[in-house]
Amino acid sequence: MTKIAIFPGSFSPFTVGHQSIVDRALPLFDKIIISIGINSEKNQYFSIEERLQWIKDVYGNNPKIEIKFYEGLTVDFCKKENANYILRGLRDSQDFKFEKGIAQMNKDLNKEVETIFIITPPEISHISSSIIRDIIKNGGDVSKFIPKEIDL
Ligand code: ADP
Repeated sequence: MTKIAIFPGSFSPFTVGHQSIVDRALPLFDKIIISIGINSEKNQYFSIEERLQWIKDVYGNNPKIEIKFYEGLTVDFCKKENANYILRGLRDSQDFKFEKGIAQMNKDLNKEVETIFIITPPEISHISSSIIRDIIKNGGDVSKFIPKEIDL
């Protein structure tokens, strides 16, 4: 069976934290679909087109990666894409608490889908898209938190 994972998130913007999760998950799956959720309020700062382009700049040449948008339930999107795995990153116990509830609920909604967690390396566990947005809004330099292929 082809192992397909979706990596859902807002990616607003895509950071080296996200990149680390995708890069380390690549050997585990035949295909990873980086899936930009477009139904969350906090996504307004960057357009979906910008976010899509930035991820393309990083992974556009990788045959194992697809980049898509989705609306609605993540488990429904998994079914549509024939994906049996949801990939998520874990930075700390706060992430764990939040992710545990979502993963258990997703399992309840669709028994076929397994959530796989990858722990972030400590040197980048402080990086979050929301803090990066704040730095940008206040004119700071975020270049070391963003993959080098992305020109913000
Ligand atoms: P969401 O809006 O669903 O929280 P994000 O775009 O913020 O989505 O993140 C998508 C995924 O990437 C989540 O699993 C999140 O925990 C993970 N992630 C975000 N930043 C990092 C980081 N610095 N290190 C590891 N994982 C991260």
